[in-house]
Amino acid sequence: MTEPLELKKTVNLPKTAFAQKANLGQSEPARLKKWNDAKLYEQIREARKGAEKFILHDGPPYANADIHLGTALNKILKDFVVKSHSMMGFDAPYIPGYDCHGLPIETYVEKKLAAKGKNKNDLPVATFRRLCREHAEHAMDGQTRDFMRLGVFGEWENPYLTMSNEYESETARLFGRFLERGYVYKGLRPVYWCVHDQTALAEAEVEYKEHTSPSVYVKFPLASDAKLIDEKLDGKNVFVVIWTTTPWTLPANLGITVHPDFDYSAIEVGAEVYIVASELAKSFAETCGFENVKEIARFKGAKLDKLEAKHAWLDRVSLLMNGDHVTLGEADAEVELGVREERTGAGKSGTGCVHTAPGHGHDDFVIGRQYDLEVYCPVDNAGRFTADVEYFGGENIFDANPKIVEFLREKGVLLFTENYNHRYPHCWRCKNPVIYRATPQWFISMDAIAKTGAEISLRANAVSEVKKVKWHPNWGEGRMANMLKNRPDWCVSRQRSWGVPIPVFYCQGCDEAIADAKIVNHVADIFLKETADAWYNREAKDLLPENFKCPKCEGAEFIKETDILDVWFDSGSSCVAVLETRDNLQFPADVYFEGGDQFRGWFNSSLMCGLAAHDIAPYKQVVTYGWVVDGEGKQMHKTGGNAVSPNEVVQKSGAEIIRLWASAMDSTQDMRVSEEILSRIVDAYRKFRNTLRYALGNLDGFNPDTETVALSEMQEIDRWALASLDEATEKVIKGYEIYNFQAVYQTLYNFVTVTLSARYFDIIKDRLYIFAPNSLERRSAQTALYKIADNLSRLLAPILAFTADEAWENLPHQKVASVHLAEFPKVSGADDSQLLSDWERIFSIRDDVLKALEEARNAKQIGSSLEAKVILTVDKDTTYFLLSYFEDLRYIFIVSQVEVHEGDKFNVEIQKADGAKCERCWNYSVRVGASEKYPTVCERCVGALDEIEKAV
Ligand SMILES: [Zn+2]
Ligand SMILES: [Zn+2]
Ligand SMILES: [Zn+2]
Repeated sequence: MTEPLELKKTVNLPKTAFAQKANLGQSEPARLKKWNDAKLYEQIREARKGAEKFILHDGPPYANADIHLGTALNKILKDFVVKSHSMMGFDAPYIPGYDCHGLPIETYVEKKLAAKGKNKNDLPVATFRRLCREHAEHAMDGQTRDFMRLGVFGEWENPYLTMSNEYESETARLFGRFLERGYVYKGLRPVYWCVHDQTALAEAEVEYKEHTSPSVYVKFPLASDAKLIDEKLDGKNVFVVIWTTTPWTLPANLGITVHPDFDYSAIEVGAEVYIVASELAKSFAETCGFENVKEIARFKGAKLDKLEAKHAWLDRVSLLMNGDHVTLGEADAEVELGVREERTGAGKSGTGCVHTAPGHGHDDFVIGRQYDLEVYCPVDNAGRFTADVEYFGGENIFDANPKIVEFLREKGVLLFTENYNHRYPHCWRCKNPVIYRATPQWFISMDAIAKTGAEISLRANAVSEVKKVKWHPNWGEGRMANMLKNRPDWCVSRQRSWGVPIPVFYCQGCDEAIADAKIVNHVADIFLKETADAWYNREAKDLLPENFKCPKCEGAEFIKETDILDVWFDSGSSCVAVLETRDNLQFPADVYFEGGDQFRGWFNSSLMCGLAAHDIAPYKQVVTYGWVVDGEGKQMHKTGGNAVSPNEVVQKSGAEIIRLWASAMDSTQDMRVSEEILSRIVDAYRKFRNTLRYALGNLDGFNPDTETVALSEMQEIDRWALASLDEATEKVIKGYEIYNFQAVYQTLYNFVTVTLSARYFDIIKDRLYIFAPNSLERRSAQTALYKIADNLSRLLAPILAFTADEAWENLPHQKVASVHLAEFPKVSGADDSQLLSDWERIFSIRDDVLKALEEARNAKQIGSSLEAKVILTVDKDTTYFLLSYFEDLRYIFIVSQVEVHEGDKFNVEIQKADGAKCERCWNYSVRVGASEKYPTVCERCVGALDEIEKAV
């Protein structure tokens, strides 16, 4: 007889190098280095070579500052997409990009120059551009470092830069493509204009903010015969009353627009008669404080068409016109600015007679063109009235506003004025209010029919393409379609230096603009070698083909266009400049994935560029997500003290915490973040980590190649765990497929906390610790645990990129070095519904048992649950059901003994367990003491010890 074993040493305690404490602050950089040294991203490319491609095309962040939580979130969400698709088996390369040109960098460099007492205008353009380039490079390096730190995989050594020579060359070429198709024209049209930065702005470059403007009601005397409107007006002193919140545009007034189908009233107030929309007559009279108001005539707006009023104070006609854009109320002032989308304010203002200045508003411009009005804009680049403006010449328009109000009062044409709060467009850069101002600019026409390729307008084609794109969430389609229906022609010229110059020349002899795709391509070839700096370094003749002559006058002297292209044109061209020039990419992209602000930004400009190049949308799917806001739902501001810095979170808690947060939030809504929210995420992280650790610890010594138990021989609860895993796996992969990362998170979180932690792990602990290492019972549980740890690592990998890889490394006998090279698990496809529902039934009974045990514990009737015997009374059907699990019930309930009785009323009774406590497994048994060799252990442990002895 051998010596008895030391009992403590026969218990299979868990063992793993996967630490309980993550220490992400140190472990993440170490893992990044490991990935980098192993060239993991390249290995993934190699592993997926030849597989179907899945291209997420990166919307380039602006390369001028450190990353903030919004930019971090953007990259992380895209990384979820790229990593998950790679694990679905796609070849999913990710080429990050940077938007390098544009005003913010110019402004930054100008400020730096000013600090040294220098001025941009004293420097050669090429020198100024070099400084801008250096700043972009510097900012970009910082961003790259921070994005990589977040665990985002991609071609970080070779990102696309909108300022690279290849890219600038392709951007110019694409402009040539627009020219060739007949979409480009130069024209005088009102555009958003920042008087501070003295440049045109794109729609996407203005932000709406609350602003107080002086609103004025001004009367314009009717010049035409009032009888033409209504007999009753004959001989009366009739005025048309307009309302505006931009008094400074009044000198540019050339007309008044009314809706042809609305009713208008002529109301008599003392000796005067005012024409306003009938629906607004009452509020108008109240606002102006009129008493004894009498309507003396009512007629349709159509009656006023082409009649004439006189300008309120200038000796000039103001033409009455009919326009469908006229609305009743609030909108007037914003219609004036070409903006309909955002408006606030309560109550009704306005008169339904819209002051129209074709040089200062989009709708004004459109209606003015219809009625053949001049595009009159007496305001210069700096926002001053030109000299020809009577009384106000040379004045800054915003300064002139109150003076104009006073002037109107003195002239007796002002009926009422007040301060008016509304949302008004401001420059995204300098935060000053912008104006709408007509200037000569290059435009891409939305409605011109293409001369080459599909004979269709950009607008018509865009509207039809948008329907073919899959939008997530699906309201994106309507939002995009509306934007396209209303968007004015795209003004692509900017009066700046840091960008891609518009490659157009002007003939010195006849002023002819040389805007020709062939010439553009010639210039683009030069850009490819020398970057677009060539435009500034070379003379016009050195940019044109040799011996080039003006096609109109044969002249040989040319000057270069000084405007550059809109930066949205730059980034929009990426669908060609990147997708078509990189070997591993293709046009169109499978998905664009950006914040909701890109509807009018990059989604829009990319669409135009894609259509110009290939007549189809550059993306098959577009995914958008919400804003990052603070814990109260407020916008975050650097200066507001509520901003969460991603780099600080990374240092304090780890990139994994930001990644997990990004998955846990509903990305279709505003995404909240605060210290408190992050601390909850840290708790969730611990649960994932502890789950992985439990599984890994109990796999110590398990060889999945030789010790895996066949499904048919596994214990039923282990099969149930695998069926649950299958169920979760299916949901998780579906979530990844439809970009619903919150569904992924919630499924995994529930699986980990409920299925595993609260149920399965609790129950199998005894079996793992107590049974002989090689026993079928223990191997069965390990077989399930192995699959769980393996699959969980894979399913978590896109989100917890570091931790999943760490867990993967600690799995015994792994065939692939990194989880990121692996694929998502395959679902068995078996129908496990009976198994799952049987166990749901068991767990629901277990919940009642656990409750009763808890009560017994509180009543000090028992200590640990193993001191208990459970006496269940259940109905006949349940009795039969439970008896088929009878052997397992004590383990399921984690008690020493269970009795099941048939009875009418469901009942759980807790008694002290019979017998004595086993020294080895702590279960109670009446047979403790039966073995001579091991007198302190139960019969089950005696069996296990026999097996262990035999194996030694
Ligand atoms: Zn500005
Ligand atoms: Zn010429
Ligand atoms: Zn025992």
